[in-house]
Amino acid sequence: MRYSGFSILKQALTGHKSWPKAWRTPDPKPAYDYIIVGGGGHGLSTAYYLASVYGAKNIAVLEKGWLGSGNIGRNTTIIRSNYLLDGNVPFYEMSLKLWEGLEQDFNYNAMVSQRGIINLYHSDSQRDAYARRGNAMIMNGADAEMLDQDALRKLYPNLNYDNARFPIMGGLAQWRGGSVRHDAVAWGYARGADRLGVDIIQNCEVTDFIIEKGACTGVMTNKGKIMGKKIGVAVAGSTTRVMSKVGMNLPIESHVLQAFVSEGLKPIIPGVITYGMGHFYISQSDKGGLVFGGDIDGYNSYAQRGNLPVVEHVCEGGIAMMPYIGKAKMLRMWGGIMDMSMDGSPIIDKTGIDRLYLNTGWCYGGFKATPASGYCFAHLLANDEPHDNATALRLDRFSTGAVIDERGAGAQPNLH
Ligand SMILES: Cc1cc2nc3c(=O)[nH]c(=O)nc-3n(C[C@H](O)[C@H](O)[C@H](O)COP(=O)(O)OP(=O)(O)OC[C@H]3O[C@@H](n4cnc5c(N)ncnc54)[C@H](O)[C@@H]3O)c2cc1C
Repeated sequence: MRYSGFSILKQALTGHKSWPKAWRTPDPKPAYDYIIVGGGGHGLSTAYYLASVYGAKNIAVLEKGWLGSGNIGRNTTIIRSNYLLDGNVPFYEMSLKLWEGLEQDFNYNAMVSQRGIINLYHSDSQRDAYARRGNAMIMNGADAEMLDQDALRKLYPNLNYDNARFPIMGGLAQWRGGSVRHDAVAWGYARGADRLGVDIIQNCEVTDFIIEKGACTGVMTNKGKIMGKKIGVAVAGSTTRVMSKVGMNLPIESHVLQAFVSEGLKPIIPGVITYGMGHFYISQSDKGGLVFGGDIDGYNSYAQRGNLPVVEHVCEGGIAMMPYIGKAKMLRMWGGIMDMSMDGSPIIDKTGIDRLYLNTGWCYGGFKATPASGYCFAHLLANDEPHDNATALRLDRFSTGAVIDERGAGAQPNLH
C-alpha cells in the first residue's frame, strides 16, 4: 500500500483495520544474489538502492537483532554536509540532496527537517578556519554562510556570548542542514526495500563467512547456511568483530558514543548548534526535549552503554555554551557503538576477498551519510566499481597514505 492522504482518510473511515504490516517476516532462502549483513541504516539503504536504482533482485538483509537496535535508532539525528576535504564534501552533499527527496522516494514520513546547523566560533583563527570551510562547501555546491555575533544573537539570544571563558563571536551556518527522525529512516528504508522484494530477516546473526577458492560464497548464521553471489558487510560498530572472521585487521576502533534527552521544554533552540571550544552539539525535538551529545567515551568497547565521566564532560560543554541548560532535568541517555576510522572518514570498498565488500568507518557521522552510503555501496556491489562520489573512500588509503583527515588530527579516533 502506498501511504497518502487518501489512504489515511480511507483507514480513518473504516476504523484503521486494514493497514498492512510495514514489512514481511520471511524465512531465509537457501541462496540470494546479494546478501547485506547488518540491518542498520546503511544496510537497509543499500538493499533499497540495489533494488530501486540498480534493478537487482533476490536480495536479503540479515540483521542480528531488530531493525533500529543499532546506531540508526540511537543517534542525535543531525544531518549536514559542512565538510572541507575533496574526498568528503561531494559524498556528504550527495547525501544531503538524497535526504531532500527521500520521503517522496520511499513514501514514508521520516520528519526531514532542514532547520539549519550553525558551528559556533570563538576566536579570530577559528573564524578564518570556518570561512575556509564555508568556501570549500560553496565550491562543491553546498550552501554556507558566515554569521557575525549580531546575526547569531537574533536567532539564539540566550547563548553565553560575553561572560564566558570562550566568548561566542559568530558561526558558520548551513541552512540546508538539520535533523531527521532516526528510527523512521530505518522503517522507511525497510518498508521501501520490502515492497521491492527484499527479504529482511531479523534475529539472524552472521557468525562466519564461507570462503571457497579465495571467494566469499555465503555466510553461516544462527538460522543456518545462506549462500550469496555477492556479500556486503555494513555492521558499523561491530565491523572489527565481524571481519575478524575472515582474518581482516582493519584501521577501525569501536568506541561508545552517548546521547542525552532532557524533559520537554518550550521552543528555545530553533536549529542545530555546535560548540566550537569543545565537542558539544544540540537540537530540540518536536516534543520539546533537548537532544544533545559530545565526545566518545575514551576507551574501546562493544557495549551499547557509556560511563559517567563523559556525561560530566558533555554537560560541561553544554553549560559553557548555554548555562541555562543546567536547570533542565535529564530524561534519558543511552550509548551506541561507533566504528571510528583512523582518519575520521568512511570506507566503502572491496575487501581483497573476491565477492566480499565492506562499508564502515562512520565515526560520529554515519547517520547523515545513510542515503549516500547505501547508494554508493549499492553501486559498488552492482558494478564492481566505486561510485564517482566515493572514489576516495578506499580501504588501501591507510597503506598508501592518501588519508582523508578532515580535522588534521592524525590517526587518533577520539580526535575526529
Ligand atoms: C549517540 C550517537 C549519536 C550520533 N549522532 C549522529 C548524528 O547526529 N549525525 C550523524 O550523522 N551520525 C550520528 N551518529 C552516528 C550514526 O548513528 C552511525 O554512524 C550510523 O548509524 C552507523 O550506520 P548504521 O545505521 O548502519 O549502524 P547500525 O544501526 O548500528 O547498524 C549496524 C547493524 O549491524 C547489525 N549487526 C552487527 N553484527 C551483526 C552480525 N554478525 N550479523 C548480522 N547483523 C549484525 C547490528 O545489530 C546493527 O543493527 C551517532 C551515533 C550515536 C551512537
